Amino acid sequence: MGKEKTKLAQDYEQKFSSPEKYVCVDCVEDSFLKGIIAKNLAKKECDYCGKGSEENIAASVEAIMEPIASAFFHLFGYDYPDECDLAELLTTADALRKIPLKCHEALFKDVASAFWWDRWVDDPGSFHDPGNSMRYSWEKFVQGVKHRVRFFFSSVESKYKFSFEKSPVKLFEEIGQIVSAEKLIKPLKAGTDLFRVRHWPIDKDWYLADIEKNLGAPPNSKAQSGRMNPAGISYLYLARERETAIAEVLSKPPCQAAVGCFKVRRDLRILDLIALPGMPSIFDNERYHERELIAFLNDFIREISKPVQKDGTEHLDYVPSQVVCEYFAKIFKSEDGKPIDSLEYPSSIRQEGRNIVLFPPPKKGNCFSDLVTLSRAEEIEFQTWSELCKAIQHKSGDL
Ligand SMILES: [Zn+2]
Repeated sequence: MGKEKTKLAQDYEQKFSSPEKYVCVDCVEDSFLKGIIAKNLAKKECDYCGKGSEENIAASVEAIMEPIASAFFHLFGYDYPDECDLAELLTTADALRKIPLKCHEALFKDVASAFWWDRWVDDPGSFHDPGNSMRYSWEKFVQGVKHRVRFFFSSVESKYKFSFEKSPVKLFEEIGQIVSAEKLIKPLKAGTDLFRVRHWPIDKDWYLADIEKNLGAPPNSKAQSGRMNPAGISYLYLARERETAIAEVLSKPPCQAAVGCFKVRRDLRILDLIALPGMPSIFDNERYHERELIAFLNDFIREISKPVQKDGTEHLDYVPSQVVCEYFAKIFKSEDGKPIDSLEYPSSIRQEGRNIVLFPPPKKGNCFSDLVTLSRAEEIEFQTWSELCKAIQHKSGDL
C-alpha cells in the first residue's frame, strides 16, 4: 500500500493545497477523520472552535486533506465536454456537501477553497477509477444479463474497454470473498423452528391433508419467478418468526391462511445477510473497495427483500438477483470448501423480522423434506386490519 499511497498523495498534491491551520477532533464528524486527527496532535489550540488545553489537542489540517481528497476524487471529476455550461456543474462546496463532509463551518470553507479547481461532475470514476470498478462492472453485468446474454454470460468473451473492468466471474468471486472475509456464513441448528404461511381462499374448504400438501415448496413445474428463484426452479421461503411469515403473505383482510411450523432436520449453513458489518468511512481510502462490496450487499438485500409482484409474468428486473442467488446456491463455497444451504435476510414488511430461503438440495433426488419437516399446521383468519396488525406485532414465537 505504501508505494500506492505515495503515488496517490503526489497525485492529490497537484489538486489541492492544504490550509496552514490546526483542527481538533470535535470539529469533524466522521470517526475515521477524528482518528487521523487524534494520531497527529501537534498543537494546543484548535484554530476553528478555539478550544485550548495544556496538551496538544489539534492536528494540522494537512493530515485530513488527503483522505478528504481521496473520497472527493472517487466521486467527482473534471472530465466534462468543452461545450458544457459550467454554471450547471457542481462547485467544490456542492461536491463536499454531497460526500458528505460534515465539519466546522470555517473548516468546510477552508477545505473547499483548498482545491485548485471549482467545477466538477458526478461519477467520473466509472471510467478511470479502480475504486468504482465494482459498481461499473455490476451495472454492465445487469444490462448484459437482462438484455444481451442470459445463460452463457460467464463464458462469453467480452472485449473489455477498461483494464479495471471485471468479468462477471471475477465480480462473483469478489462478492464471495467479502462474504467469507466478513464471516457471514453461520450455522442454523437442527431443531430450529421456521414458519411458512400460504394464503387460503376464503371460500375454499379446509382439509388438513390439503393444507399440509400446500405448505411445502411448490413443485418445480409450478414455481413462479421470484426475486431469488427463476420460474421453474423452486426455492423454499420461510421466516424465523411466525409473525414475520404472516406479515410477508397477508395484506388484505378479511383473509385466511394456513400457517406451518417447520423443524430444521440437520445442521444447515446459512449466509447471514442480517448481521452485515458497518460501512467503512468514505474517507478511508484503504477500505474503499470493501466499502463498495458492503454497499453492493446492501443493495442486493434491498432488492431481494422487496415484495414480489404476483402477476404471473417473468420480471426482467429479478434476473440479476436470481443470478446472484444461483451463484450462492450452486457455485459459492465457504473457506472450508463447503456449499451453503440458505440465505437469511431482513423482512421489508415487519421490522426486525427475519426471512430465510432454502436452496434446493444439491444432490439429485434430494428434496426440501431432507432439510426441514412440517411439524405443526394451523388455520388462521382475520376479519379486520386491527386483528391482522395485532397478529403481526404479537411476539408469541409459538403456535
Ligand atoms: Zn475544534
